[in-house]
Formats: sequence, C-alpha cells, structure tokens
Amino acid sequence: MSCRLLAAAGFLLLSLTAAAGTLPVQRIADDVYLIPGVVADAAPANRGRVVNTGFIVGTDGVIVVDSGANHGHGEAILATVASVTGKPVALLINTHPHPQNVLGNSAFAARGIPIMATAATIVAMRTRCPDCLRSLERSVGAEAMAATRIQLPDLVAGSEVRQVAGRRLTLLHAGHGHTEGDLALFDAASGVLFAGDLVYRGQVPHLSESDTAGWLASLQPLRDLPIRTLVPGRGPLGAAADLAPTGRYLAQLRQRVAAAYRDGRSADEAIALAELPEFSAWQGYAERHGRNVQHVYFEIERDDLNGRGKARQ
Ligand SMILES: [Zn+2]
Repeated sequence: MSCRLLAAAGFLLLSLTAAAGTLPVQRIADDVYLIPGVVADAAPANRGRVVNTGFIVGTDGVIVVDSGANHGHGEAILATVASVTGKPVALLINTHPHPQNVLGNSAFAARGIPIMATAATIVAMRTRCPDCLRSLERSVGAEAMAATRIQLPDLVAGSEVRQVAGRRLTLLHAGHGHTEGDLALFDAASGVLFAGDLVYRGQVPHLSESDTAGWLASLQPLRDLPIRTLVPGRGPLGAAADLAPTGRYLAQLRQRVAAAYRDGRSADEAIALAELPEFSAWQGYAERHGRNVQHVYFEIERDDLNGRGKARQ
C-alpha cells in the first residue's frame, strides 16, 4: 500500500546507494526514470555528472534521454538502465549539444544504439565538441574523460510526434533558445516532460550559446503540454508550474539590461545595475550572473545595431 502511494506520488526512490557501476535512479512515473545530476558545476569530484538524464521503458525497448559527460558516464547510465530492465536500449536522444549531455554518446554507439538530435545540434557538435571536450577535460580531469570520443547523432529530429518502443513521444524544437539545437521530449503516457536545459531549477542558467529572446519563445509550447512531472535539465524534479522561474529569470535579465543599455551604460556598468536578488540564492549566481548580463547586453546591442542597419536601407 505504502509503495503504491509512493509510486502514485511519482517519487519512488529505487536505490539511494547505487550498485557498483550504476548511478542512483528514481522512478518518477510508470516506466519513467530519472538519473539526477549533481547540483554543481563540472569538477573532478563529480566527474562532470551535473545534468539530469533519464529513461523511458517502452513495450519492447528503452528510450534514454542524454548520454552524460564522458564515455564512463554513458557506460554508467547504460548499467543503470540494465539494473532496472532487461529490455534493450532502442534509442538515445540528445536534448542539445552541450558536452555534459552528449559526450557519453560513444558508449551508446559502441553498442549500435541509434542516436537522435536536431540537425542544429549535430552541426553544433561537429563545430564545437572538439573544444568542449578539451574544456571539460580541464574541468574534470583526464581520468574521468578516458575513452571519450565525439560521436555525432545519426538520426535527425524536429518538432514531431514519434512512436518509439510503443511510447508516443512529442518532440519539440522551437528554434535557437538555450542552444541552437534544443529538443524537449514529452511522453504522453506518463505526462513526463524532459525539458533539457530549456528549464533550470535552483541554478543560474548557462547562456554562452543562448539566444535569450528565442529561449523565452521556446518555453511557450512547453506550457501548452499536459505536464504531470517536469524533468529540468538541471536541478530537482518539478511540476508544470516550475517552468516559470527560468522564464522569469530570463525576462527580468533582459528587462534590466535593456534599461541599462538605453541609459547609455556600458556592459560592465550593466552588471551592477542588473543584480536580480530573487535569484541570488540559485547555484552559480556569483559565478555566472555577471557573465549572463554581458551576454544579454551584447544581444541587445546586436539587435539594436541590426535594427538601425535595416532602418538605413
Ligand atoms: Zn546546456
């Protein structure tokens, strides 16, 4: 009875102490599992395992969402899947081209598992992953990155509905948001949304590859889904209402930086003018918020200059 109640609540913790080679895993809905990332920036202590990954067990196969930060992480995700079900992995989906999400691909490719992502993710991986791999190696150390090689996805996805292993999956790609290739995944049977890094919880978003106006637009179609459980790219499990804070952070950031820009302030001056106390307790605020202010400042400046350019034509 108590198990059924916990399962109904959707937060049944299968194993707090993972068996050797596997990772802690939570059953979050019928046949849907979360492998929580560590709430931190990539560092030797966490081996780069800082993003949420997960999997859906279908009738005759498993769909895995994101492959982790390196070959060893991908192997650990596969071992975790095998500890839960004997069904084969039918498909790996990469939500976007950030190294912590895709550099475990080689472990899946070694088993002949097809890998799917948006066309923009594949292009970005081809362009950036060599640098990303070296950069992540500097953050987590060479030992954690051992055997890691860049494996591009072999299947292209867009916004569409697909039946995979008996599950009806809604894939959503609304253009350039957190990155150019964001793909969110909604599982109709469970009502679970894997949002990728379009949604952060309790952490300041990384904007290095972002178009913040596009990101805000990308959140809109997610709000229209009948979400019962939200898996953010980073941070704890949530519900539909937890889509909101990421959007609020981006909107307030854009508003404050635009005001500083209009007042003729420099990008450096804008940092002090765009403090956002509502979010100052989020992980990474001290490290990233100032950089995010500068990123948005240059977006606004670029749009302004482009607008002037058009007006002159
Ligand atoms: Zn990301």
